[in-house]
Amino acid sequence: MSRSTFVATIEPVSTCPVNCEACPVSRRDIEQPKARLMSLAVAGAVASRLRHEFGVGYAAFGNWGEPLVHPQIVELLAIFKQVGIGSLYLTSSLSARIDAAALVESALDYLDISISGVTAEVYNIGHRNGDWERVEGNMHALAKARRESASRLKIGLRWHRYRHNEQQFDAARELAEQLGFEFKPYFGHLGGIEAHEDFERGTLPQSKRRFIENSVFLEYVERAVAAHVGEGSCPQAENLIIHSDGRLLHCCALMDSHKTGIDFLALPRRVLESFKRAPNSHCGSCLAKGWSGFMHSSKVDHRSPAEVAAELAPSSAS
Ligand code: SF4
Ligand code: SF4
Repeated sequence: MSRSTFVATIEPVSTCPVNCEACPVSRRDIEQPKARLMSLAVAGAVASRLRHEFGVGYAAFGNWGEPLVHPQIVELLAIFKQVGIGSLYLTSSLSARIDAAALVESALDYLDISISGVTAEVYNIGHRNGDWERVEGNMHALAKARRESASRLKIGLRWHRYRHNEQQFDAARELAEQLGFEFKPYFGHLGGIEAHEDFERGTLPQSKRRFIENSVFLEYVERAVAAHVGEGSCPQAENLIIHSDGRLLHCCALMDSHKTGIDFLALPRRVLESFKRAPNSHCGSCLAKGWSGFMHSSKVDHRSPAEVAAELAPSSAS
């Protein structure tokens, strides 16, 4: 069998209690997918097809939703590992109640935790409805569970860099060191393709526009976007994004994709591949403007706040 280029993104649940300012999940002006949990039966059929028909060896759990809200997330991960998908990654806000010991002992290989503050006051500017006390408690519980087990689970602290939290950069790095987590500072962005479109047109809801103007390093975003203008292809064609109901979605950076998903379990492979290869109605302008390339670029940046401030101009809104 030739080496597969497909990876998978799994949405165990497509809702999230945190409602971050920069996330399409918090937008009431665009249609949200119906909140539902992926059943174990759907997970089993999806995992088997991903592995045996598409040769998938890596699956990321998350996308637009909080995967740890799923009460059977540990069983779900086990299903994907059992079929032979060797590398399982999950991104979380840690805003749900968790069983830290079970998660640490689960089939998961890498857990990335996203935070944007180390105090409730700063955290809630971006993670609007997040419960900092719970997040902090969950992080300590995970660190403790990992110390007490032979688990090989790796944990990363994805520190969303915004203008409003740069003063907590060192404290976040120290927290990661204290917990034994990999520190991964990266530039927070606009939130997805619809956010880029609406920001450009001036149709983004006011609170989100204000957040972007005050908090996002827009100069960094503009430069990174410019570096990708006019690209001819998008890696989403090789990313099999599976919604909680078993549908295949076209793009993980576009909320609108939830409206046009097709049945992953029922349709033949050639139909699924054609669906992924063909552009959606947003792709033309997305590629032309560089948004696709930007969304897929790394954004990780370990430079100190002083170094970043010396390079990037102050916010135009400040
Ligand atoms: S925690 Fe993640 S999924 Fe939830 S609102 Fe924030 S960015 Fe969106
Ligand atoms: S080009 Fe843009 S809208 Fe199209 S699949 Fe890629 S990221 Fe999504």
